Amino acid sequence: MKFQQLCVLGSTGSIGESTLDVALRHPETMAVYALSAYSRMEKLAEQARIARAKIVIVPTEQARDRFRQAWAGDGAGPEIRIGAQALVDTVLDSEVTTVMAAIVGAAGLPSALAAAKAGKRILLANKEALVAAGGLFMRTARENGAELLPIDSEHNAIFQCMPQVTRATIPTEPAAGVRRLLLTGSGGPFRQTAIDQLAGVTPDQACAHPNWSMGRKISVDSATMLNKGLEVIEAHWLFAMPVDRIKVVIHPQSMVHSMVEYEDGSILAQLGQPDMRTPIAYGLGFPERIDSGVGLLQLAMLGRLDFEEPDFERFPCLRLSFDALKTGQAACVALNAANEIAVDCFLKQQIRYTEIAPVIESCLERITGRSDTSLDSLDDVLALDAHTRGIATELCQLKA
Ligand code: NAD
Ligand code: MG
Repeated sequence: MKFQQLCVLGSTGSIGESTLDVALRHPETMAVYALSAYSRMEKLAEQARIARAKIVIVPTEQARDRFRQAWAGDGAGPEIRIGAQALVDTVLDSEVTTVMAAIVGAAGLPSALAAAKAGKRILLANKEALVAAGGLFMRTARENGAELLPIDSEHNAIFQCMPQVTRATIPTEPAAGVRRLLLTGSGGPFRQTAIDQLAGVTPDQACAHPNWSMGRKISVDSATMLNKGLEVIEAHWLFAMPVDRIKVVIHPQSMVHSMVEYEDGSILAQLGQPDMRTPIAYGLGFPERIDSGVGLLQLAMLGRLDFEEPDFERFPCLRLSFDALKTGQAACVALNAANEIAVDCFLKQQIRYTEIAPVIESCLERITGRSDTSLDSLDDVLALDAHTRGIATELCQLKA
């Protein structure tokens, strides 16, 4: 395996921590060049010390000062870069071979796109980048010879189950012989909660995912199943698959991470513990298999695997996502931006859980009619993203 120099964007998050856990098991084939974080400077300083990072990227001068105070390693510590542009600039450093895009939200789009433009190996956890700018991102990656490895567990599973030829290129059409993609989702913590009780659920209840331990935003997205909706859009772009050939299947145990259905009636699935270190190790090691630290799946102890149809009444955000993908890119940008605001307001207890979907739906109504032709640059996407955030913020304030 070629030696890799990693740039881990969002290193203090759930995916970032798992990435360092895997990477540090393989000092002979990879090293950490750069780390970034938006908050928790003490954590970042500890990571930088342990991983011997050369560069850290922090959001502000105050954060830089906090990092310096927290630095407990030898010498002056890593070079500290500041601000969103520094994320893009660091990705472009010639030393960097591999970028882990694990910032949460559309904030991760510019740096992920920069990695695509620079033709790096991209480990893509940040699904919001594909939701907001899937066409632009995939085209940029293809034209610049970037290597794109999906880290989201479902897409990583699908990638593993795809014909080998598809894994070697960034596809422009569905892989030959594939009929449908079957995306599994656990149904989250409220799969069986009485629908009339959902209005009263708290952020902590929404973040208590039965199987996965994740950041708070994606945890709420898993509860509403907007996360699965984002993943449908993500799968559409990653695998050039039309929306009517992507199916969501509820699978409460989260052991089958997703499946590919072939024309001959075969279904290939990837199974494993619900631990993100498995897809991360797949991405870091590709095309080889490397140790992830994840234990084996004990099938006999598990006993059974269940599958159900999704309930669109319980999960209106899932329906909104399918509708957005059918409507076009502007709707997808708005879906994502409105959701980020609504989830943030829910986490701050400014709106109810059951108000997340109506906020998104109203935003989608307000931006309909916008032509997608104006969304072919990063600036256009970010402008619509900002516009929608403004509308969503107003709507949330009305409900607060
Ligand atoms: P998290 O909230 O735990 O971590 C987010 C990271 O991004 C942190 O390091 C934070 O400091 C940084 N960050 C936050 N806002 C930022 C901003 N405005 N600018 C720059 N950096 C910022 O999130 P997570 O659960 O690790 O998820 C990261 C991404 O991976 C998300 O896009 C999520 O959808 C995706 N993902 C996560 C999981 C999972 O198991 N956690 C699974 C699949 C996909
Ligand atoms: Mg996922």
